[in-house]
Amino acid sequence: MISVAIDGPVGSGKSTVARLVAKGLRYTYIDTGAMYRGIALKAKRAGVSWDDTEEMGRLAEGTEVELQPTTVEGLTCMVRVDGREVSREIRDTDIGQGASKIGTIPRVRRALVGMQRAMAAQGGVVMEGRDIGTVVLPDAELKIFLTGTVEERAKRRFLELQKKGKTPVMGKVIEEVKARDHQDSTRADSPLRKAAAAVEVDTTGMSIQQVVDAIVKLAREAMDK
Ligand code: C5P
Repeated sequence: MISVAIDGPVGSGKSTVARLVAKGLRYTYIDTGAMYRGIALKAKRAGVSWDDTEEMGRLAEGTEVELQPTTVEGLTCMVRVDGREVSREIRDTDIGQGASKIGTIPRVRRALVGMQRAMAAQGGVVMEGRDIGTVVLPDAELKIFLTGTVEERAKRRFLELQKKGKTPVMGKVIEEVKARDHQDSTRADSPLRKAAAAVEVDTTGMSIQQVVDAIVKLAREAMDK
């Protein structure tokens, strides 16, 4: 069984696409962003500042994050932090910003990368995030880099928030997407970038199914190699 690494910026469709690709291949789907979010949420609840690199490092090293598949509508996976179910809470916008902030701390990254590699040790995974092809699984047999225009990606975020019953403002969503993109691609440790061997898929104007089909086809080709 091979490993499939999918990276890309906010709203590029990574989670939806990666989950469906995993389903198509009967592989395990791993949402690494959910792990950064889980750590950010735990810190917030414990009153630890996302800027406190020392405390954040310790907190990440002492946390158990579990991911499980789910068929619950609106959830990409079930997330447990130290045994406590937090699948919905981690999706709040401020937790996304916190995840992006703590993702700049090398000790936090090291702790999570260790867990992620252990999860992928047997292969048969579709893992998505920002640094999967470059850092977490540099030997993955298939690497995908999903992109899309800021407008299209912000539109997806906007619709997602509306579906959750929120009342987003488009201009604000665009600003948030840009801010997170900037933070994720300019950080010193493991910035978001396309791995050398990654296949770039521009999702602008493509349906989810089209993107999924293209990646499943590439995965089957990689298995035959
Ligand atoms: O993918 P998602 O938007 O849920 O990720 C939340 C944040 O976690 C990202 O903005 C990014 O800063 C961080 N992250 C990361 N490395 C990963 C996955 C997520 O730094 N592999």
